[in-house]
Amino acid sequence: MNRKVKVGILGATGTVGQRFIQLLENHPWFEVGDIAASDRSQGKLYAEVCQWKISGQMPEYIRQFSVKECVPNLDCELVLSGLPSSIAGEVETAFAQAGYPVLSNSKNHRMDEDVPLLVPEINAEHLDLIPFQKKNQKFETGGYIVTNPNCTTMAMILALAPLHHEFGLECVSVVTMQALSGAGYPGVASMDLLDNVIPYIADEEEKVEVEPRKILGTLSDGKITFADFKVSAHCHRVHVLDGHLEAVSVGLRRRPKKEQLIHAMTSFRSIPQALNLPSAPQRPVVYLEGVDRPQPRLDRDLERGMATIVGRVRECSVLDYKFDLLGHNTIRGAAGAAILNAELLLAQGWLKTAAREEIVTKA
Ligand code: NAP
Repeated sequence: MNRKVKVGILGATGTVGQRFIQLLENHPWFEVGDIAASDRSQGKLYAEVCQWKISGQMPEYIRQFSVKECVPNLDCELVLSGLPSSIAGEVETAFAQAGYPVLSNSKNHRMDEDVPLLVPEINAEHLDLIPFQKKNQKFETGGYIVTNPNCTTMAMILALAPLHHEFGLECVSVVTMQALSGAGYPGVASMDLLDNVIPYIADEEEKVEVEPRKILGTLSDGKITFADFKVSAHCHRVHVLDGHLEAVSVGLRRRPKKEQLIHAMTSFRSIPQALNLPSAPQRPVVYLEGVDRPQPRLDRDLERGMATIVGRVRECSVLDYKFDLLGHNTIRGAAGAAILNAELLLAQGWLKTAAREEIVTKA
């Protein structure tokens, strides 16, 4: 059997951490080497401290792992981080300084000038920031930080990128209906959310308005020039377990026919599909014809939760077109995104590991 690359998971007991554990079971390239969480869990077995909250059983392989402290002495060649933003910034920097590549889900480093905000289908070339980051931050032992977008941005950007490439985005208006699991566990109290919608999610609108412009920005001389379009976001928490639904209107520089707009999204393929990365969706954007689709419960698991599901494309009387889209917030919006990023790093030679030749050549 192939040797696999050992990964460490920071925040392994949390909502995103549990997805990491689930998605890494039988992963062809990676295996869990070590797990870490807060002092509540440290020194105990995963099965004892983790309140498993996702469907399916806790995988057998992880039950007897001992939970460690989030300090850079873990037995692994890279770390996947699902830490809360209150501590993620400092801890992730410490790991990068100690030589670990860090794949982060947290907001802390996303907007750092020398940190890639990576979506492998869209901006793999932003990985060329890594040497600048290592130099600027004096990460001298091979470590660095790569982030994935906020879950709401992630779902939206897979649909927006082909529109931007083909017709030029001028402005985007988005109203979100975001799932409960996006708030972590225990998240929002049931007394607050049942029979209710909460029209506020801390910091969310700010992230959704700026991250797309960095992701679609152009890299030159170690700097990203943000893409030139505006985003306006209204974010809401709704009583859905998984899957963010977003009502999007777009203004475009060149107005296509409706069929051309749908074709741009559904024909979108990129590096992860060409490289056949293990977690890559075959179709990054799936279009559903039904008048009442997409719906979170029915459609969030299409393409193993790794795609953006679009429906209801129609003309907009204010901007050019409007449509609904859906993304699985803890899979493509979090753990699945970081794992896909790690796969791209391995495939493109950014992870220095003896296992690479064997893994990538056999893939
Ligand atoms: P969560 O369910 O609250 O889990 C937090 C995890 O971090 C737990 O494993 C917890 O360990 C650990 N932790 C908490 N305080 C710690 C400390 N002081 N030191 C070490 N470990 C600590 O949160 P989540 O929803 O998984 O979110 C994790 C990160 O991902 C956040 O930055 C969030 O913004 C981001 N994110 C989440 C989603 C989503 O859909 N949920 C999507 C995209 C991005 P214990 O169990 O030991 O307390």
